[in-house]
Amino acid sequence: MKVIKRRGRDKIVIELISLFPEDERFCEITLSKKNLSVHHIVPKRKGGNEDLDNLMVLTKKIHKIVEKKSNPLVMEIYNELIKKRKLQRQIRTFDFNIEKMNENISELREEYKKTKTKHL
Ligand SMILES: [Zn+2]
Repeated sequence: MKVIKRRGRDKIVIELISLFPEDERFCEITLSKKNLSVHHIVPKRKGGNEDLDNLMVLTKKIHKIVEKKSNPLVMEIYNELIKKRKLQRQIRTFDFNIEKMNENISELREEYKKTKTKHL
């Protein structure tokens, strides 16, 4: 029974890791490419999903440390990585908003050009 369970879990890990591009399949903390597992930043039980934004590749050893918060230095690196992700998300949103604003400005310019020629 134990063996079957373990196999099942490994299968899930393999499927989750396949969500990552091949060149991103390494532990974000140690950069190791061996004995990898996939960590849910927001746990499934708290509504965490399988989006790449919520997943992090870690070695099995580091994954245990992160789950138990048992090593301050690892947790410091982990927390910095989480902060970095949040900033990257904000930057993506900013870029999107700036793009939208540029579109609006272009439209307004066109409108202005039209009204200007009408009144001349
Ligand atoms: Zn985890």
